[in-house]
Amino acid sequence: RKYVYFFGKGEAEGNGQMRELLGGKGANLAEMTSIGLPVPPGFTITTEVCTEFYRNDRNYPDGLRDEVARNLARVEELMGKKFGDADNPLLVSVRSGARASMPGMMDTVLNLGLNDETVQGVIARSGDERFAWDSYRRFIQMYSNVVLGLDADILEHLLEQMKERRGVTQDTELTADDLKELVDQFKLRVREELGHDFPLDPQQQLWGAIGAVFGSWMNPRAITYRRLHNIPAEWGTAVNVQAMVFGNMGDDCATGVAFTRDPSTGEKVFYGEFLVNAQGEDVVAGIRTPQPINSSGADSDLPSMEEVMPECYAQLVEIKNILEKHYRDMQDIEFTIEKGKLYMLQTRNGKRTARAAVKIAVDMVEEGLISEKEAVMRIEPAQLDQLLHPTLDPKAPREVIAKGLPASPGAACGEVVFTADEAEELGKKGHKVILVRIETSPEDIHGMHAAQGILTARGGMTSHAAVVARGMGKCCVSGCGDIKVDYRQECFVTRDGVTIRKGDLITLDGSTGEVMKGRVPTVEPELTGDFSKLMEWVDRFRRLRVRTNADTPHDSKVARAFGAEGIGLCRTEHMFFEGERIMAVREMILAADLEGRKRALEKILPMQKGDFIGIFREMKGLPVTIRLLDPPLHEFLPQADREIEQLAEEMKVRPDVLRTKVDSLHEFNPMLGHRGCRLAITYPEIYDMQVRAIMEAACELIKNEGFEIVPEIMIPLVGEAKELAILRQSAIRVADEVIAEYGVEVEYLIGTMIELPRAALTADVIAEHADFFSFGTNDLTQTTYGLSRDDAGKFLPFYVEKEIYPNDPFVALDQEGVGQLVKMGCEKGRATRPGIKLGICGEHGGEPSSVIFCHRIGLDYVSCSPFRVPIARLAAAQAAL
Ligand code: PEP
Ligand code: MG
Repeated sequence: RKYVYFFGKGEAEGNGQMRELLGGKGANLAEMTSIGLPVPPGFTITTEVCTEFYRNDRNYPDGLRDEVARNLARVEELMGKKFGDADNPLLVSVRSGARASMPGMMDTVLNLGLNDETVQGVIARSGDERFAWDSYRRFIQMYSNVVLGLDADILEHLLEQMKERRGVTQDTELTADDLKELVDQFKLRVREELGHDFPLDPQQQLWGAIGAVFGSWMNPRAITYRRLHNIPAEWGTAVNVQAMVFGNMGDDCATGVAFTRDPSTGEKVFYGEFLVNAQGEDVVAGIRTPQPINSSGADSDLPSMEEVMPECYAQLVEIKNILEKHYRDMQDIEFTIEKGKLYMLQTRNGKRTARAAVKIAVDMVEEGLISEKEAVMRIEPAQLDQLLHPTLDPKAPREVIAKGLPASPGAACGEVVFTADEAEELGKKGHKVILVRIETSPEDIHGMHAAQGILTARGGMTSHAAVVARGMGKCCVSGCGDIKVDYRQECFVTRDGVTIRKGDLITLDGSTGEVMKGRVPTVEPELTGDFSKLMEWVDRFRRLRVRTNADTPHDSKVARAFGAEGIGLCRTEHMFFEGERIMAVREMILAADLEGRKRALEKILPMQKGDFIGIFREMKGLPVTIRLLDPPLHEFLPQADREIEQLAEEMKVRPDVLRTKVDSLHEFNPMLGHRGCRLAITYPEIYDMQVRAIMEAACELIKNEGFEIVPEIMIPLVGEAKELAILRQSAIRVADEVIAEYGVEVEYLIGTMIELPRAALTADVIAEHADFFSFGTNDLTQTTYGLSRDDAGKFLPFYVEKEIYPNDPFVALDQEGVGQLVKMGCEKGRATRPGIKLGICGEHGGEPSSVIFCHRIGLDYVSCSPFRVPIARLAAAQAAL
């Protein structure tokens, strides 16, 4: 087994493809070396050593020490220096490097190999006493902290004291003697704190640092990070040992970091910062203000590298171009200039904003660097979200007072109100408001519409507030247990005791779940030409269709603009709350007999028909699935005495009679109660009215406006085929009646939701009565787990944090459990009816990993809220590539 890979002087034993063995950093150092870039020589100890190390009770594999010694000798030869030599010492850096960069790991030790003797050699060779002592004291500081585990503040404090005594403010103002004295103080202090001497033997230093890198692979922070990002422990980390080059040997030296393109806009400009006469950590530490790399476009008054070091700059630009051509992606690079000579210390694919990701991918296709397929694969679907909503200005300061679930992305700022009516009232007057509720119900829809954003104390990611807000593309923070809402006092109080009253300004970040005091400025989304170009390619590659969940003409329009190819779920219950209708709906529910119900339904029919006409028109012949009434009836009922009295008057009954009726509709477990198709089994006239409204709307548009419409009527919460058989019969009866009345030819489909485990298990029988299935994975998740979607928000985050669940199953489809039911439903459905149309309309339809799953199991389409349509389109394309 080979444990160590050498790189130096144009040749490398590894290459860029060997990330698994050499880690990201090691692989890229090897790659850069072999394409002829100036990289200081060094070697990489493989990730396999890390794995062996842990398998063998923290012992290195046999032969490792010899291999390291041999490779160190090669570095010595190339550098013409010797490790530990008092006369002409080689100094090295030791860095970790896993496959993916991983916070929580030991990162870097620089200047390793310095001790009381070798420092003299550095002085002699460099002729710079101050530089030598400064390097030495930095080494002791870094090594004591990252290898020996000494609190960084302890030595930092000695440094501060020294500056105070000398009456200076900058490290650079300390003299060689000061630094030499500091070295002595540091060593003394290390012994006091740790009970042993600072290691002066370079070999001991080297193995100490190597051991610290491997040791840090199992430190708690690294373990947590791995769990959160699904990185297996077996991957291990590599260790890179590399000859030091110095950016701090004078004014012809420098160090810096750069991006080959602007990582926030994607603009093709070389973007970065550097510091003259400094070592790596100085740039990030913010001790001095770094200077820009490039003169153009930099918003800095300081002279740029282009001006100060024109030759090195020209070389760096050349290297930048080589790297981009070679890696065919935007790179994030680190470099050092030692006495006018440029060295590359690192390159990797640079992190970027969504906006930059799209621009860079599209530009690179135009530059001929990558293919359209590659461009599509480069964009993280979830990241697109950033482009579709206003976001908080990243530069603006913010005071976070509470944190809830990031239920619906975007950012919003407004005055706090506590009721939907107030939101609407103030909204009409042009105020921007944030609706704060303990939880929301369908009765709050008008207020949610009027508000800029919604904050709820209770409820999970598929709670009413979350689902509705996402549908509206409105920012929402739900399940914010950090706040206590007091409707009577019209205020809420945070866990830290901050009180926010009605009218106070707050800002929500629906992408992080943060609640902030006051106004934080936002920036508007920009759907640029690059975005639409990318989406054209996306549509060319995907098989899966993407529809939307929309219940209003407005949402339908928004969704079409985002590329929706139909409506996969039109929930009709929201229409029942609009304006005056709620009265008629209540009358219907509370009527004493069939006649009373029919009278009330007759009032609703024309309004409902109007809704459907609006939606059909907006969708211009694209498929529209309309779901018949689903929620338990009590959701529509008045609760307050005042409302009951008012309704009683209207209905000409006694208030106490009405109250008794309302009470009788109370259910302990409404989500498992009298809802969905069960309503229509007991009150068939409700669905009859809805089917009539749908068919009249379709017939009218077909007859009078020449539309081509094939309405898809969907029956929810079926658990037993007979339910569907019965309801299908009556739907056909009503539909055919309407068709005969209009005397037009209309096709229509009748299908069902598969949202109960029993429906999935018996999908073959159910399919006998269904033209299509739409998987309602919100309810299917709720019923498969036995987990209330409205209450789980209180403890689900804990489950996810403890990694009992890998994700919130209401957000990302549980492929092992719920997903298997979906898969079974598809197979059984197709077995009975080969051409059956299959889709998903739960919230998962807009979540990338779930969309990929839906593609794999062969669904025809996914349906999601309008603002997630582009995300689903992209994920569907990636699934197909
Ligand atoms: C579902 O259950 O997945 C669904 C789409 O219906 P709703 O969210 O309205 O219950
Ligand atoms: Mg449902």
